[in-house]
Amino acid sequence: MSLLDLVNPATEEPLGAVELLSAAQAAEAVGRAQAAFPGWRAVAPADRARLLRRFAAAVDAHREELAQLEVRNAGHPVTSARGEAAAVRDVLEYYAAAPERLFGRQIPVAGGLDVTFAEPLGVVGLIVPWNFPMPIASWGFAPALAAGNTVVLKPAELTPLTALRLAELARDAGIPDGVFQVLPGEGPVVGRLFVDDPRVRKVVFTGSTRVGKEIMAGAAAQVKRVTLELGGKSANIVFADADVARAAAAAPGAVFDNAGQDCCARSRILVQRTVFDEFCARLDEAVRAVRVGDPTREDTEVGPLISAAHRDRVAAFVPADAPVVSRGSAPSGPGFWFPPTVLAPGSATDRVCVEEVFGPVAVVLPFDDEADAVRLANDSEYGLSGSIWTGDVGRALRVSRAVEAGNLSVNSHSSVRYGTPFGGFKQSGLGRELGPDALAAFTEVKNVFFASGE
Ligand code: NAD
Repeated sequence: MSLLDLVNPATEEPLGAVELLSAAQAAEAVGRAQAAFPGWRAVAPADRARLLRRFAAAVDAHREELAQLEVRNAGHPVTSARGEAAAVRDVLEYYAAAPERLFGRQIPVAGGLDVTFAEPLGVVGLIVPWNFPMPIASWGFAPALAAGNTVVLKPAELTPLTALRLAELARDAGIPDGVFQVLPGEGPVVGRLFVDDPRVRKVVFTGSTRVGKEIMAGAAAQVKRVTLELGGKSANIVFADADVARAAAAAPGAVFDNAGQDCCARSRILVQRTVFDEFCARLDEAVRAVRVGDPTREDTEVGPLISAAHRDRVAAFVPADAPVVSRGSAPSGPGFWFPPTVLAPGSATDRVCVEEVFGPVAVVLPFDDEADAVRLANDSEYGLSGSIWTGDVGRALRVSRAVEAGNLSVNSHSSVRYGTPFGGFKQSGLGRELGPDALAAFTEVKNVFFASGE
């Protein structure tokens, strides 16, 4: 058994230690999940739905406790953390409707009756990152459980506390033993076990593209199903015909929210050249107004980065001679702080324009016309998210069809809604989560033909 000391990223105060499971302990848990599967899939649809609604109600009743845990463990501003706890409730409520609506089809054929069934897969392994520990976990476990699978969930090493509490709430709500287990541990140990253990039938991984590729390669050995939610370098495209003041006011939230530790961060701000200077002046005002600080305060908008090591990684993108056009504030003293920073690099091929920073660092780049904007936006190995600001409906339609990304918003920065599909193009991922079709990712279609005996 090994222990990992947790630290409050806003204060650097110790939060206690969490036990990291060995591969053997994780394998035992997979065995329990496998043993629980036949019973869980046999629970009547209405009863499975009722249990998920009870789980949602338990989360709702403990929203404040969960939020405060996330404030301490991940440094999220308390108002954001409350929204994240509420999001878990909402996702559970949404998929609680699924067990009774997991329809197959009846397909016309000669000589009998043909029907399809949506069969659960078995044990599903979820691997979750540290940036949004609660919501991302729920995007996997809610539809997976609704479809009749059992779940083993590995939280990120640094942020296991809310996931562990959610497992207790599930148990208190009556979810049977072994159906939903949270297994804190190291990625290459517990996460890797999910890939290698043939009893785990699917891996849902959210994290870096580097590890996602390893998981996909490992899963190939067993043709194991994967859903991958990976990195991003999303574009925020502002045309001259947009409401430039509104676009500039909204831009910081789209990239500095969660201190930029957001896979959907619009970290490449592309602005039509004719309004570039005006936009940058307004953006500077908005960046300076971002309230970075103590995440326990109700008026804080941005908290610290997750760790000292991550702050060093982020800081490496902003050397002393970096072309800074705007810089916000950040507390000094304890905590892993980094000020919101906007750079205006000379070239779109600079490292900071290409690589995911995963911190509060954005670039602003000019473009000439619509074709140039689309070319720049698509000049990335990623394709997760993005925004288009324009007053021209036709342009909004053309550009949103042309940008290679899974989640776009026009004249706003919305990315994730539990009722709509979420996922990436290109190296941002594989498959979709959330929305009405997520159940398909947690079931296999089985076709059965019944001969009529004619
Ligand atoms: P990471 O890839 O380092 O870790 C993610 C998870 O994978 C952790 O639980 C980790 O323990 C585990 N892991 C690490 N190595 C492993 C291995 N060899 N085998 C199995 N599991 C392993 O990523 P991170 O630093 O925690 O998260 C940041 C990344 O996540 C960013 O790239 C971000 O864009 C991405 N992300 C994507 C989405 C999305 O929905 N597309 C959402 C959030 C974060």
